[in-house]
Amino acid sequence: MRKIFITFFSLLMIFSTAYGQKKKKNNPLDNAAIAYLDKSFGTYDKLQKLIWSHPELGFLETQSSGDHQRHLKENGFTVEANLAGMPTAYVATYGSGSPVIGILAEFDALPGLSQDTVPYRKPLVEGGNGHACGHNVFGVASIAGAVAIKEWLQANNHAGTIKVFGAPAEEGGGGKVYMVREGLFKGVDIVLDWHPATGNGVSVGTGTAILMVDYVFRGVAAHAAGSPDKGRSALDGVEAFNYMVNLLREHVPISSRIHYVIVNGGEAPNVVPNYAKVSYYIRSPKRDVLKQLVEWVGQAAEGAAKGTQTTVESEIVAGFYELLGNRTLSELVQSKLETVGGVKYDERELAFAKEIVKGLNEHDSILKQVETVIPLAEEKPSWGGGSTDVGDVSWNVPTVSFGTATFVPGSAGHSWQNVASGGSTIGTKSLINAAKVFSLTAIELYTNPQLVSEAKDEFESRRGKDFKYEPLLGDRAPALDYRVKK
Ligand SMILES: [Zn+2]
Ligand SMILES: [Zn+2]
Repeated sequence: MRKIFITFFSLLMIFSTAYGQKKKKNNPLDNAAIAYLDKSFGTYDKLQKLIWSHPELGFLETQSSGDHQRHLKENGFTVEANLAGMPTAYVATYGSGSPVIGILAEFDALPGLSQDTVPYRKPLVEGGNGHACGHNVFGVASIAGAVAIKEWLQANNHAGTIKVFGAPAEEGGGGKVYMVREGLFKGVDIVLDWHPATGNGVSVGTGTAILMVDYVFRGVAAHAAGSPDKGRSALDGVEAFNYMVNLLREHVPISSRIHYVIVNGGEAPNVVPNYAKVSYYIRSPKRDVLKQLVEWVGQAAEGAAKGTQTTVESEIVAGFYELLGNRTLSELVQSKLETVGGVKYDERELAFAKEIVKGLNEHDSILKQVETVIPLAEEKPSWGGGSTDVGDVSWNVPTVSFGTATFVPGSAGHSWQNVASGGSTIGTKSLINAAKVFSLTAIELYTNPQLVSEAKDEFESRRGKDFKYEPLLGDRAPALDYRVKK
């Protein structure tokens, strides 16, 4: 109760301060970037819904990437596309001189999560794709922020460069890693990142480093009843392997995460499978621990192959670093988030959100959190959790990530509820807020070079002077067909 009161009180302070500042000359919201965003709700509502209504999977986002590029070109950006071996990757640039600020943009969707903008389960296309991670909103907020920043640079005739990194296939393809490996982030001083969320806050979690590895077992096919002694089952190899991994779980650091699916376990029970494939995601908060885990899992695969007289080959599909935090930038973005404030539902949006909340067996009071900004948390050692290809960016350029309330509180990640709210005006409101946070942060960095050097000094000291970037995925080419049904 006390906590609620304090939160409410500090909120009042934030809003009243913001309101009070509006009357003053140095109102932080009185600039060309914010003015542009305030009059552009319709433009970005239309653009995010265009991408939402045509959800494309990783590396196949031709139309979505094209929509981004067109809008950026129309607004004076120079666009280079088809980069680092990925046809849908692009870098858009405006301005000149330093600092160079990069904004990350994503646009890939997820399979099987097609959903209409209604508060109950209703796929638009049965089994179709859907923007369940909100990347329709993600990418459009990033380009809206970049265009707003351009408006400010232009209006103030200010030096500085803004770049948008259109990064494909965040969901398992790891587009950003290839962009980093290609050197596309060289010369960038600061990277700003965000992600649609159920609340408004700066993310200080470092998540986990991940390696995604496919293991293919090969055996000998034979009639499973007539001549089983002539066969050697590749599926036995996979099963023995999985069993061993499930035993070793007990002995790995508790923050490790290991999960798998059998992608191919044979075709018919009366044929001894000569081919079987299992896909693993192996994660740890520290990539050095991760490398040891992957080695151990690899030994289990070899042991399983030996014991079943099959063979095994492995292939790294993708790999990401854990995130490297930057307190200087986190504090900066926190202050800008507090200036912008939370998302305010209108009556129609509130009715929609209440329906979603009801279906989740949550209480309406949970909706209050969309209007507030979460206080900046202390950084703590990661306990596990998800992974992102932003990790590799964060070890190459000082990076900060935040979230705004795109999704109805209580909704799970990658859920149909997220597709529904992300494709509505709730999604657009959160998008405009995110673009405002990008704008205010960039303006501060352009006008306060000291902050840029502080962020860079912190970055250098945290990653260590002997740091050398080596992508976890090695020298493999982008897995452009990882979402193509075979
Ligand atoms: Zn996702
Ligand atoms: Zn995502």
